[in-house]
Amino acid sequence: MRALVTGGAGFIGSHLVDRLANEGYEKVTVYDNFSSGREDFIQHHVGKGYFKLVRADLLDGDVIDRELKEGYDVVFHLAAIPDVRLGEKMPEISKIDILATYNLLDAMRKRDVKNIVFSSSSTVYGEAPPVPLKEDYGPLLPISVYGAAKLACEALISSFCHTFDMKGWIFRFANVVGSRSTHGVIFDFIKKLRKNPKELEILGNGKQKKSYLYISDCIDGMLFGFERSSDQINLFNLGTEGATEVNDIAKMVVEEMGLKDVKFRYTGGDRGWKGDVPRFQFNIEKIKSLGWKPKYESDEAVRKAIRDLLREI
Ligand code: NAD
Repeated sequence: MRALVTGGAGFIGSHLVDRLANEGYEKVTVYDNFSSGREDFIQHHVGKGYFKLVRADLLDGDVIDRELKEGYDVVFHLAAIPDVRLGEKMPEISKIDILATYNLLDAMRKRDVKNIVFSSSSTVYGEAPPVPLKEDYGPLLPISVYGAAKLACEALISSFCHTFDMKGWIFRFANVVGSRSTHGVIFDFIKKLRKNPKELEILGNGKQKKSYLYISDCIDGMLFGFERSSDQINLFNLGTEGATEVNDIAKMVVEEMGLKDVKFRYTGGDRGWKGDVPRFQFNIEKIKSLGWKPKYESDEAVRKAIRDLLREI
């Protein structure tokens, strides 16, 4: 198999590249503009026969078109500006990610690359009822511009697959955590506590409760779904069934850092930022029915990720 991974130098992308290389993919190309990706995440592949790095932006339609001309069986499309919070200050992140996805799909159509695997997000569900959500829940009305962009990209992928005889695998990820992550609540708490071990600022009231998925489970689940389903569009929630409260994450980080008497200071309100969905639970029966379930539950995923990041940052 010959695969191109957009965003392959990022947190999730670089773990996927490791896995594809281990599984003996004939060719693994990373296509990344390094806006948040890192050289050291993929350094160990450089110079290997299967590996190629294209340092470029998906906004440059000519470069992705030229690269796909080389011949690929599948594109794993993970490139995006992944910061949900940024949307409040920079709503244009939605425009950038949608255009990047359009350019990729258009190049795939022209170069006859038939399969796309996409990293979507739970944020497409918006402020939905407090029950574990299934893939067929609707109407989908995201409350963040990030979620809106993901939903628009899902729609583009579905339309290209149906119009140009392609196949798509769309995975709506929970919060993915673990080694090499460069943003998110665990990363933030560790950074803040390293700066001031006496006090921790917590965005919102700390009662936000969401599903966390460990990185190895994310990669396993994505590849499992990709290999075991073959409809024109294959849509899966990918997360854990449980959920972890922000206050508990704060306590776990404090504990793992060996700190005592840390004062928690809340910024207030029921959510961390505009566009934050404070409570979210996934129904993952669809992927479970194919025979896959995450190895680590939400709290375990958080605990493992804290330990990973304490070693790394
Ligand atoms: P990341 O920032 O580590 O990875 C994104 C990568 O895409 C980076 O390497 C970045 O340099 C690259 N990139 C961004 N825009 C690009 C462009 N226009 N052209 C080329 N490269 C570009 O983030 P991540 O956490 O690894 O996220 C990977 C994907 O999974 C993203 O699509 C993200 O939206 C999605 N996702 C992540 C989570 C999570 O919890 N981490 C949850 C849901 C969905």
